[in-house]
Amino acid sequence: MVRYAYDFRSGSRDMAGLLGGKGANLAEMSRLGLPVPPGFIVSTEACRAFLTTGEEPAGLSAEISRYLSALETTTGRLLGQPDDPLLVSVRSGARFSMPGMMETVLDIGLNDESVLGLAKVSGSERFAWDSYRRLVQMYGITVMGIDPALFDEAMALLKEARHASDDLRLDAGDLAWLVETYKRLIRDEAGRDFPQSPAEQLHEAVLAVFRSWNAERARLYRRREHIPDDLGTAVTVQRMVFGNLGPDSGSGVAFTRDPATGRPGLYGDYLPNAQGEDVVSGIRDAVPLAELEHLDPVSYRRLRDHAQTLERHYRDLCDIEFTIERGTLWMLQTRVGKRTAEAAFAIAAELVEEGLISADEGLARVSGDGLARLMFPRFDSAATGEPLAHGVPASPGAAVGAAVFDSAEAVRRAAAGEKVVLVREETTPDDLSGMVAAQAVLTGRGGKTSHAAVVARGMGKVCVCGAQDIAVDGEARRFTGRDGTVIEEGTVISVDGSAGVVYLGPVPLVASATMRYLESGEQADSVVCAVGRALDHADSVRRLEVRANADTPEDAARARRFGAQGIGLCRTEHMFLGERRKLVEDMILARTETGRDRALAALLPLQRKDFTGLLQTMDGLPVTIRLLDPPLHEFLPDRTALAVRIAAAEAAGEQPDAHDVELLKAVNRMHEENPMLGLRGVRLGLVVPGLVTMQVRAIAEAVVERTRAGGSPRAEIMVPLVGAVEELRLAREEVMRVLAEVGEETGVPVRCPVGTMIELPRAALTAGRIAEEAEFFSFGTNDLTQTTWGFSRDDVEAAFFSAYLDKGVFAASPFETLDREGVGRLVRIAVEEGRAARPDLETGVCGEHGGDPESIHFFHATNLDYVSCSPFRVPVARLESGRAAL
Ligand code: PEP
Ligand code: MG
Repeated sequence: MVRYAYDFRSGSRDMAGLLGGKGANLAEMSRLGLPVPPGFIVSTEACRAFLTTGEEPAGLSAEISRYLSALETTTGRLLGQPDDPLLVSVRSGARFSMPGMMETVLDIGLNDESVLGLAKVSGSERFAWDSYRRLVQMYGITVMGIDPALFDEAMALLKEARHASDDLRLDAGDLAWLVETYKRLIRDEAGRDFPQSPAEQLHEAVLAVFRSWNAERARLYRRREHIPDDLGTAVTVQRMVFGNLGPDSGSGVAFTRDPATGRPGLYGDYLPNAQGEDVVSGIRDAVPLAELEHLDPVSYRRLRDHAQTLERHYRDLCDIEFTIERGTLWMLQTRVGKRTAEAAFAIAAELVEEGLISADEGLARVSGDGLARLMFPRFDSAATGEPLAHGVPASPGAAVGAAVFDSAEAVRRAAAGEKVVLVREETTPDDLSGMVAAQAVLTGRGGKTSHAAVVARGMGKVCVCGAQDIAVDGEARRFTGRDGTVIEEGTVISVDGSAGVVYLGPVPLVASATMRYLESGEQADSVVCAVGRALDHADSVRRLEVRANADTPEDAARARRFGAQGIGLCRTEHMFLGERRKLVEDMILARTETGRDRALAALLPLQRKDFTGLLQTMDGLPVTIRLLDPPLHEFLPDRTALAVRIAAAEAAGEQPDAHDVELLKAVNRMHEENPMLGLRGVRLGLVVPGLVTMQVRAIAEAVVERTRAGGSPRAEIMVPLVGAVEELRLAREEVMRVLAEVGEETGVPVRCPVGTMIELPRAALTAGRIAEEAEFFSFGTNDLTQTTWGFSRDDVEAAFFSAYLDKGVFAASPFETLDREGVGRLVRIAVEEGRAARPDLETGVCGEHGGDPESIHFFHATNLDYVSCSPFRVPVARLESGRAAL
């Protein structure tokens, strides 16, 4: 028989797949002897069975009853026992943390009778009725699907009637009245009563948590975080402990280190006389954890010791949820905590230094995405002016955008291409879509562990929270800054998540400390040193070489400073832009051979100069120069504009410009409906006489020049868009002829490897043949993705990719992250068959995927020799190539 439930003693941290992260870590804490309230876990397997069949798996109910009995024996009380009830919490917990995305029901076991028993044993009627009120509300929302706003309204009306600024001012009588109101609300809305049977409450709550796996916001979160949809959630059922039993009780969240900066030392928020949920929701402002040391020194010391035990045991930063019930500390949750990119690098470096983890483990704990974030610019402190607001620096970085006051508006404006900042009094899990759409999040309430802070940090989104000096009026869609300035919706503000400050208007940006370090080696702070160490270690373990895609000496120089080991792609067409466009136009339009030769001859010295500059900057390193690739019509004037100009002249009874008429004829001659599949790449070289000759001559002469100047030029010549070996053979013959010719002319032998791009499925499928003519392959995964899927790379992202992402056709755009299954398979085939034909074949990738962390891991596994990416991605690629090799 399948087993669906586990008690804490039979679980461990390695069982997160089955017990969820929360359950597995509770089990682990129990094993470590930390004070964990007893309970049991219903497995993800039960959830999966429920969600796939839509029915409760056979035997689940009996198993829950059996584990509940055991819990009742351990605690010496029955669930909902009238005179002294055992109460339990029912919480979701998936394998991967999804903060606030799924459901929780607390205080299960309370009913009209047991609430009186609880009042008696706790000595507080107010507490008992407040707990019952919470249960009816949570149950109504979560299990019975009632609109949360209805409960909030009833509460707000009561507070107004009692002139109570917060719920702590409501007394037992008020809360008992509220329970009745809530129950009536449930009856009216759901057509049935709030169940009085504790067993039914438990059972229904477990199923509701299962269902919440598929809630809209949970799905959205998973898509964003690339969490598979079929994992399901576990459910933890645990004896309730109460943080709202008076001033000697409370709840808090702690981190074993500061999750924003990585600095060591216990860190977090504490809320006296409150349940855990109140801390995370930011409903009341928490105090810094340090204050607990004065409020309850014994519990504080214990918490600090447990935190240390956990950090040593997990060998990483842990976050902890805890509750103090009348002076007794209980640990309710722990996990390896989310952190900012700064903190990830700083903590990894420190733990390596402390000898707690190896350098390899340290590298595994940082990421290329994090490094990319550290390379983003910061605000220029000299140009910030007076702040609009100060708050908690919850998630670092600099963001500028128009203030918006709800998620729908954030999504709408972002879809129209506007940058926005989501401003809320506090966020709830329902704000997720707005947070995704926004550049930054600003809240008026809540600490570093509030929902806004935790979620923003996880997403790498800039966040300032708990800005108490602003007044947010969501209804009126505006907020008032500390100096009284009123910010209406749409006003541009700048949010500094590192300093916790907000400014009016756009603040100019400057290079970050990490960027300055990468550019110049300046070691400004400990985070930068940590980045340096991680990169050094990555360099020492990686097998993949990292090159850059660069077309100018400036880009090449930057790439080299960033650690590039050569140029993997120089797109020569980029050298024909600007004023040289006219020369290209002349070449295309030339009616005679002499005319074309003249145009090509004018281009030659310019190209030679380009190549000389590149070879000089990258002296001693390979420079892969690709022959001209894009369709020629891209260099000609716009067809419609020309036609309109001619028609306008004719309509005015004038003679159209003769040059325009000639141009239009040529443009019409060259027009293609589908230029990306048209006259480009090697095809161009084979049909436009003299083009390859000119380019190769320019390369060869640059090599000679550099050689004579005492350099070590290492040019490689790459032929684009080859689909058949015959194409490459023809192009290569011409290349070799020109190289030999220049060698003879100058007396300097020119040796350049000749290779090809693999960017058409046919090239990949006939790679064995193509390798006969190619000394290297460079995968053009942009075109290879386009031609494998039949997606136009210029159009699809706007046209339907967002619908495809929503529908789950793919989890990420295949133009960003390599589609391993399809495009990846072609890469694999080409590498294998190419190497079989030519064992010393060099292989690399120069499509955008060369700088994408996930794709880099694939290229490592596929045994490529190098990845090539834009200069700014070079450090990211070094780091991820190292991580891939671990
Ligand atoms: C490619 O297709 O992946 C490539 C690098 O070439 P381009 O983007 O210039 O077409
Ligand atoms: Mg291409």
